Amino acid sequence: PRRLDDIVACLQFAAEQGLSVHPRGAGTGVAGESLGRGIILDLSAHFRTIREIGAEDVVVEPGVVVGQLNRVLARSGRQFGPDPAHVDVSTMGGVVSRNGSGSRFLRYGAARDQLRAVQIVLADGSVHRFSRHTLRPLEPSTGGMWAQRVAELVRRHPEALETYRPEVPSSGAGYALAETVGDDAVDLAKLIAGSEGTLGVLVELRLATHALPACQGVALLFFRRFHEAAQVAGEVPLAGLSACDLLDRRLLDLAAQETATYGKWIPPGTEALLLLEAVGATRAEVAGALQAAMSSGIPESCLAGPTRVSLEPHDVAEAWRLAKHIVARLARLTGTTRPVPFIEDVAVPRNRLASFLADARQLLRGSGLIASFYSHAGHGQVHVRPFLDLQHPGHRTLMPRLARAFFDAVLASGGRISTEHAWGLSRSWYLKERLPALHRLWCDVKELFDPLRLLNPGKLGDPDPPPLTAHLRGAESARRAAAPAPAGTPASGEANHVVGASDKEPTLSSGRA
Ligand SMILES: Cc1cc2nc3c(=O)[nH]c(=O)nc-3n(C[C@H](O)[C@H](O)[C@H](O)COP(=O)(O)OP(=O)(O)OC[C@H]3O[C@@H](n4cnc5c(N)ncnc54)[C@H](O)[C@@H]3O)c2cc1C
Repeated sequence: PRRLDDIVACLQFAAEQGLSVHPRGAGTGVAGESLGRGIILDLSAHFRTIREIGAEDVVVEPGVVVGQLNRVLARSGRQFGPDPAHVDVSTMGGVVSRNGSGSRFLRYGAARDQLRAVQIVLADGSVHRFSRHTLRPLEPSTGGMWAQRVAELVRRHPEALETYRPEVPSSGAGYALAETVGDDAVDLAKLIAGSEGTLGVLVELRLATHALPACQGVALLFFRRFHEAAQVAGEVPLAGLSACDLLDRRLLDLAAQETATYGKWIPPGTEALLLLEAVGATRAEVAGALQAAMSSGIPESCLAGPTRVSLEPHDVAEAWRLAKHIVARLARLTGTTRPVPFIEDVAVPRNRLASFLADARQLLRGSGLIASFYSHAGHGQVHVRPFLDLQHPGHRTLMPRLARAFFDAVLASGGRISTEHAWGLSRSWYLKERLPALHRLWCDVKELFDPLRLLNPGKLGDPDPPPLTAHLRGAESARRAAAPAPAGTPASGEANHVVGASDKEPTLSSGRA
């Protein structure tokens, strides 16, 4: 689409023809959230205008790329706060629609926190401006009317929200009813944030911006053992820190292979890296915040080598290049056995992070798998990618069992599923299975906005989301393949030292500590 009218016409045509419509930005989402049969509505080609730059906010079209926006905002000393990994391609529509965030969640929060208002085309082709709308007194506008309808749905099912009350700071992807529907007002814009293109097509976003920090600094702590690094990550004082990320050896090995500098930075025997960042008005303030975090009782014996502290912009940029680009590098590994994102986005309360990670590693080992771990540990967020061979029927069978055990443990820990990536095709099935009351309420919300289920079906708000493995590539060859490989045997063509999937039911003991 080139113009608003094109989107309206497209939705009307889709309704007449009974076709689904899948809004799409850059297509970098890893949960299949912009995929499906029907019309792919690509907002990244033409909706790329920054419409207005205010003193503390900005109005953009959804196809504006995050990095492009930040380059423009930087001229006036501002930025969009949340920092998803792919800022050079991810679109603002995609970031907002999943409530994206990144390493600097501690300082800026997520996309939903920035969103003030949206212009949206609903499934029937009607165009609306949504923001926060009062119920008492009822705002005399279409926004007020929609707010009242949503509030009424929630009022009818108060128990549904009680079944899922994660104890983590991120409000995550999905319909954030608990956070946006109050007695006096409903913030429809923030409800649309995280709705993954299932409630409407965003055509304009008004978002808060933040002052660029005058000074930044990083500290890189290299640990001999992953679990000790996780323990420190869960306890380090966060005052003054803008980021606290944890990377495992698998990611560090990739970094060292790719860039000689990182090979020199990372001491031999390193099993984990803790990356701390502080920002502030002066170098002294930044150095003080890093020092306070580092002198919080981290035993010298845990460290594999000297800690690298730098306030130089070049070093700070290099440190973040290591952290952010290396996860994308995982996807380019060759061989049939590859890191697969399907349980890759959860969060647990920070004080339970170390025990959760230990149990998760145990679960994967028990299933005969290795995995890479990256955690935005400051807010308990965990990205884990098990290495699987999707041509291997045993591995495909293992996926849902593993996912169930893993997500069950997240819920038992008071955690959240789908924190900055989507529910999409990867996880919507679990919501129906394990949180049925919430799933029904989300289906009601979906029906309210999109009764014909035209927008991005099969995901959030779908009464019958497909099983996890329904849309995996290579399904045909996997079906043709022979019986599952016996446990403990290497998968054919494997490049990443993964052993075959175990037939045992995965279990994970993690619960509330
Ligand atoms: C290696 C790797 C690392 C990543 N790291 C991060 C990270 O640190 N933080 C993070 O938040 N994400 C991360 N992601 C996920 C992904 O990059 C982000 O989700 C990204 O913001 C999506 O933007 P996009 O433009 O590619 O959106 P898409 O993938 O195209 O779409 C995402 C969702 O938004 C919907 N959508 C897009 N535009 C509109 C619109 N105009 N109206 C309505 N709905 C719309 C789509 O339907 C879909 O549901 C990572 C992904 C990869 C592969």
